[in-house]
Parts: sequence; C-alpha cells; structure tokens
Amino acid sequence: MENVDRRTLLLGSAGLLLAGCSGGGDLEKPKPSSKGPNIVRPRTGNVVTEADLKELTGRLNAAVRSGDIKQLMQVVDSEDFARGDFEKRWRRRLDNFNRLGFVEGEWYIGLPGGRTRNSAGGLVEYSGDLVFAHTIKGCDGQQVVESMRADYRKKSTKAPLELTHVGEVDAFFDPSIWDVAEIDAIETKHANIVFRIKDAKRAKAYASRIEAGAKRALQVMPNPKGVDKIFYALTWPAVDGKLWGGVAVGDADAHAYYHPFLDPKELARGQKEVAGNKGLPLATGRVGLHQGSFSRPDFEDVACHEAVHVLAEQWRGGGGAPIWAIEGLATWGESPSGLMAREGARIKAAFRSFESVALKGYDEFHKTSREYDYYMCAGAVYEYLDQEKGRDAVFETADAFYGGETRKAGAKKLGRSEKDLLAATRKWLGA
Ligand SMILES: [Zn+2]
Repeated sequence: MENVDRRTLLLGSAGLLLAGCSGGGDLEKPKPSSKGPNIVRPRTGNVVTEADLKELTGRLNAAVRSGDIKQLMQVVDSEDFARGDFEKRWRRRLDNFNRLGFVEGEWYIGLPGGRTRNSAGGLVEYSGDLVFAHTIKGCDGQQVVESMRADYRKKSTKAPLELTHVGEVDAFFDPSIWDVAEIDAIETKHANIVFRIKDAKRAKAYASRIEAGAKRALQVMPNPKGVDKIFYALTWPAVDGKLWGGVAVGDADAHAYYHPFLDPKELARGQKEVAGNKGLPLATGRVGLHQGSFSRPDFEDVACHEAVHVLAEQWRGGGGAPIWAIEGLATWGESPSGLMAREGARIKAAFRSFESVALKGYDEFHKTSREYDYYMCAGAVYEYLDQEKGRDAVFETADAFYGGETRKAGAKKLGRSEKDLLAATRKWLGA
C-alpha cells in the first residue's frame, strides 16, 4: 500500500506548493512616498535582524545537540502558557533521539515581512513559523521538515530575540514515531528498524527479514544520493496508519508514508517549496509496518514492497502519478523477472479488465475484489519494459510519472501515453 492522501493532493496543487501562499518579501520593499520624492526610509527603531535569527537558532541547535531538555527549555520564555506541552513533547523526543543515535536535527527561523520592526524603538512582538528539520543517517538524502507556529519577541534594540511560545506541529507532519512512545532501534546494514521498547522482542525476531526486504529493494532500485538504508517503524493498532499526518487507507498491513523535501528556509517563511537541489532526491518515505503484517507469510516481500515505494519517492515532483504506476513498480520490485513465472496466468486473465481500470482512479484500482489481480497486472507493465526495453526504461517510466503534476504531464514527459503503454504490455503478454 501507499499513501495517496490529502498530502499528495496538496503537493499536487501547483498553486500551494510552488507559488506559496502567504507572507513574503513584498512588504519589505520600500514604497514610494505619496508626498514628495521617493525616499527609501532606513530601517530605524527596533528591528529584528538576520543576526538575531542566527543567535536564537544557534541556541536552539545547541540545545538539541546537547540532548538536554533543560537547556532547550531555557530557550523558551518561562511565562509561555503552553510550555508544559512543549516540554513533554521534547523531553520524549530528545530521549528517543539519544537512544536511536542516528537522527540529526536543525532549527530554522524565518523572518516574516512587515511585522518585525517598531520604528519608535520599543517592543516588537510577532508570530511566525518555526521549522525543525532532521535527517536520519543513511535514509534521507535531504532534510525532512516539520513546521510549527511560534511567537517571538524583541524587547528593545539591544535585547536578544526571544521565543515566547511554540505551538502545535503542523498536522501535515505530525506525529512522528518518536512522539508517540518510548522507542528504540535496531540498525542493520540496509535498515533502521524503530519500535516501542515493549515491542523489542518482536523487532529482534523480524529484523533479519526486514533487512532482507530492504536489501532487495536497494539492489533493484536506483539509490538516491546519500541513501543506503530504509526506515521502518513497527506500529501498533492505536497508531497504525496515523503517523506523519496519517494515510487514507486504514486497513492495509503496511504503508509508505511520503515525506517531501521542502526547503526548510522557505518553510520557515511560510512557503512550501520543494528543495530542488540538483542531483538529490525530491522526497523520501518512512515505512509503517502494522501489527497485522507480522503474521503474513510473505512478510519479507511486504518489507521489500514498501521499501521500493520509499525509494521511488526520490522522483516525486508532483502528485500526478497514476496508482498503477506506483503499485506496479513496488509489485515488480518485489521480484523482478519472477513475476510472470509466479502470476503469469492470473495476469493474462485479468489484464483486459485492468487496462480499463488503470486509466481511472484510486477507488477503481483498490476498492474491488480484483485488487490483487490489478497489483500483479500493474507489475507486469514494468516487467514488459524490463524485458523488452531494458532496466533503464523501468526507472524512466516511474520517474516520468512520479515527476508529473498530473498523469497527463507524466505521460508527456515519458513521451508515451498510458493507453499505449498498457496496450503494448497486453500485446507482449499475448492477453
Ligand atoms: Zn504498495
């Protein structure tokens, strides 16, 4: 399974993602005076400067690096009415980060336009965004972000910038596995496996199968720069499908949660923009393995399937990938060249039905008794490409569809319509 939820939809909306929606530097531009000549007014009075941001960011970063909750609490004003919530969240987080040992975090504070100066020199108070960005060693090619609203204060020209309130984390990113329990991890060569301390026995028992699944996916798929591991979280009924903003499909045994690499500096200014650094992946993912997945006989394949989803996120530039292109790749990735031997008869029997469904939407693909058949047929499209055009064609196809704002844009980038691709697969199958 893969999450195709409101986040994908949000990111598919070019307006929100690329153009941004609020704030910005316009307010900072000097405006022509209505009387007399254009005069650029100097920024006099009490002004929040880049140096102020740097100083406050430095204190926040040092506190997180220290792993000491007391040091972090010293950065937030002692009169904050919600300070207790912040302390609770971050005490747990820092404890968890300390135990895991592979999470690195960094804060970003943005300067919103227009509200950060008091020309008379007195108190400046404003609300803005605060971003915590982290990387999991080996799993993330860029920083994974989360934003929260925060209140800031600068009492006078000489006073430091203060953090007077930190609000809830944006629902889009929340909660992370490290916010919901005391957790620990097992690191294998190709996986970081995170679990509740009380699930340690199960994690240990399944670690070698998770590692084997991750290894297979990393061998099949192109590895994004800086990535040689997959992040797995063992979830439990209360949080199955509910981490990182939640996913739409609740009854699956596992999910790959999508994490877009948004530019943390822009996000701190309230703008959602893809961190499009050349040569680096556009997104990553986290695997949630529900309790139900552990009784599946094909558990290792599930671990591999979800890891393929995560690795495919490297190409995600929009929300336009058709569901068959997403699930087909993960199904094919479980056993390239093994699919036809195992499921060939089923695929041939179902392909014509799949062909019409594939051009439709999410529900037609998933909410049917033929869902399993459609997964296999979708996988066969990539098997056809692999056999007839070579391995590169598999990834070019996935890249094109994952990159598209719409499925039409994806096909255009590929230079081949979905219809044509499906028909060619049918011909190859002899179905
Ligand atoms: Zn899937």
